[in-house]
Amino acid sequence: MKFFHAWRLDSAPFSRKFPSSVDHAGEAPRNHNPIWLVTGGSLWLATAANFPLWRELSHLALTSDPAGLAFSLAMMLIIAATLMAMLSLFAWRWTLKPVLTLMLFASAFGAYFMWSYRVVIDATMMINVLQTDVREAADLFSPRLVVTVLVLAVLPSWTIWRLPIGYGPWSRRLLQNFLMAIAAVILLAVSVVLSYQPLASTMRNHKQVRYLMNPLNSMYALGYLAAGPLQRDRSVLEPIGLDARSPEVASNDLPPLIILVVGETARSGNFSINGYPRPTTPKLGHEEVASFRNVSACGTSTAVALPCMFSNLGRTQFDARSKNFEGLLDVIQRAGMAVLWLDNQSGCKAACDRVGYANTSKLRNPQLCPEGACYDAIMLEDLDARIAALPAKARARGVVLVLHAMGSHGPAYYLRSPQAFKQFGPECSSNDLQNCSQAELLNAYDNSIIYTDHFLDSTIHWLRTQQATYAPAMVYVGDHGESLGENNLYLHGLPYAIAPDVQTRVPWFTWLSPRFASKKTLTPQCLHKKQEEKITHDNYFHSVLGLLSIKTVVYQPQLDVYASCTGTR
Ligand SMILES: [Zn+2]
Repeated sequence: MKFFHAWRLDSAPFSRKFPSSVDHAGEAPRNHNPIWLVTGGSLWLATAANFPLWRELSHLALTSDPAGLAFSLAMMLIIAATLMAMLSLFAWRWTLKPVLTLMLFASAFGAYFMWSYRVVIDATMMINVLQTDVREAADLFSPRLVVTVLVLAVLPSWTIWRLPIGYGPWSRRLLQNFLMAIAAVILLAVSVVLSYQPLASTMRNHKQVRYLMNPLNSMYALGYLAAGPLQRDRSVLEPIGLDARSPEVASNDLPPLIILVVGETARSGNFSINGYPRPTTPKLGHEEVASFRNVSACGTSTAVALPCMFSNLGRTQFDARSKNFEGLLDVIQRAGMAVLWLDNQSGCKAACDRVGYANTSKLRNPQLCPEGACYDAIMLEDLDARIAALPAKARARGVVLVLHAMGSHGPAYYLRSPQAFKQFGPECSSNDLQNCSQAELLNAYDNSIIYTDHFLDSTIHWLRTQQATYAPAMVYVGDHGESLGENNLYLHGLPYAIAPDVQTRVPWFTWLSPRFASKKTLTPQCLHKKQEEKITHDNYFHSVLGLLSIKTVVYQPQLDVYASCTGTR
């Protein structure tokens, strides 16, 4: 009788309150059954927290007629039922409120970024989020973010934590949770079956929709990443190029000094030396720089593209690798040359793990680091001393210096160029891209390219000062591109299959000193002829080894973009 009584109390929220004198289970009669928290939370998440999904469906004209509205309702029920099924598993005293709170916050942040920047949330985006440092996070901060989190997460969380919930004895809880999960799965199945045709065609034709379902997208991405270590054995680091040898430097010759500049968020199409109508590269335009205009990146984010560039695996194999391998810099170092990575960003994403490394992004320099972040020219300060500190024996073989630039890192593009380089105005001076017109955004972005032009030109000037000791050269390659409001897309990081060209097309410039060019019998004229050739990041590893004349079995001459110009092929 006691059990029956308590059951009625908890499972009949619509029933009138019983007098507290009959409540033998020790719970106040006002306590609500967890089922209401699970249902209410799921519905709130499926509706309010999914406003970017509803916007996308209405943009796709999928909500314009009664059938479309029915489909949207089915989508909402699918999301709500999935969340209900999941939350049923956590509907216990110590787990329900924390899990629901976590979902509310994940959804609020997800909704803000999907709405403001038109990004979607997949595993790659989650890696970006998890690897973001404080400065990058500060760049994203905006009042609109605060309001979104307040409305979608803080207020509902405050409400649920104040709500008294009666969980009852564990046996009853187990039974109720089980029944609740079954009901949710049935609701899910019915919703899928009834909307199957429009659902299947939407998922097939508009892949972005599946990454917009909040917070299932974040949970799926986290689950995928958590399962990653199971698929990839991280304890193993497979060495590559064990036979790597660099050529002896003859007594009448000089060793090579190559600067590999890795650009950030650089769109190939926004450099005037690639045909862009605005004068964004006034300085490089006067240098003997060879540009490859048709280069595809390995990924649409730094976290994916950067380690992939420095790997010999290529885009498809890198993604599917079952263990980790050494990369380009390991091979160069093993061949006997000196290697140093300078980073003006948030790190090298494992591409520089076993070579010399220094971070310049937090240096104190009133001119180059005015507001907490440093302009890329900071990496050229004290370079002579940094190189002199590398082992002399290795320097005599050759020096490879990687400069990982801040480039055009968004969304605060205006922070990437000092006042003197702001030639296009008015500039978007907010990180809330919705507040700016597309023209203002483009102005801020193009100003960052003008600064990149200046930084690369300064790098070439510094290399010229080294010609008595070295045969210098510079190779500049971008990591991925950026969307600047085209088709209402912003930033980068869309899944590769659906990413627009502007996110995957990157610049690749080569500058050679006369001595380096004659050493390799490479001419800029020959490289110019390859301007429109289709090239990818897969070529990078082999092209750099080729420039350094390093001999190893992992070098594939057919992937070396310079080989056909050196007379070796
Ligand atoms: Zn990047």
